[in-house]
Amino acid sequence: MSEMIIRMENVNKWYGKFHVLRDINLSVAAGERIVICGPSGSGKSTLIRCINRLEEHQEGRIVVDGVELSNNLKNIEQVRRNVGMVFQHFNLFPHLTVLENLTLGPIWVLKMPKFQAEAVAMKYLERVRIPEQAHKYPGQLSGGQQQRVAIARSLCMSPKVMLFDEPTSALDPEMVKEVLDVMIALAEESGMTMLCVTHEMGFAKKVADRVVFMDEGQIVEENTPDTFFDHPVHERTKLFLSQIL
Ligand code: ADP
Ligand code: MG
Repeated sequence: MSEMIIRMENVNKWYGKFHVLRDINLSVAAGERIVICGPSGSGKSTLIRCINRLEEHQEGRIVVDGVELSNNLKNIEQVRRNVGMVFQHFNLFPHLTVLENLTLGPIWVLKMPKFQAEAVAMKYLERVRIPEQAHKYPGQLSGGQQQRVAIARSLCMSPKVMLFDEPTSALDPEMVKEVLDVMIALAEESGMTMLCVTHEMGFAKKVADRVVFMDEGQIVEENTPDTFFDHPVHERTKLFLSQIL
């Protein structure tokens, strides 16, 4: 197998007494695309938030691009630079223009000169097909446009891995496709390593190398999309699929 960019080994996590992640073992190769699905409350968000240390795990190891996540702040900073994240609710800065949202990280974190950061920002706004929105504020954009800005903002930091946490689940139905199309293009054109929590089956079938199904804090089943959707093995997977299909 090629180089593993993410390795989670026997990861356990608790919120107080609640055991939210149970013995998670998940390795992701560079360039691989993983879709994570499962019922609400099964630990999907917690799992991907552990990968960039938005959440702490208590047992086991998480190694991202050769850097182990521990309490070492330097390591955490390095991993966060390499891992971009797109949230359900966009999390853009409302008082900054689209362009300012995109250049903030490159200027302050990567120490890029402003003119260069703006050129990079425009490149990615074109990639997500909204360069004409550069000088607007997030509140003036539709949900689908805001989510595309959020994707562009992550890409401006040149991450090695992109994490998506239900990026289309807060959108009106007519805006889901424009966001998924951008994510499909990203997968097909850039070879980006992607972990995406989503129940969008069409997306999973089109781009995922592997679908991972979680329930009650465990990885219950993982397989290629075709096998996963057409021949699920476990009863819990079958039940879940019968509810979303
Ligand atoms: P999912 O993304 O699959 O819906 P989450 O990872 O958000 O699941 O949550 C898994 C479980 O952990 C849920 O029962 C949720 O209520 C609980 N949980 C999530 N975040 C916290 C927190 N910060 N403190 C305590 N419990 C939490
Ligand atoms: Mg979630």
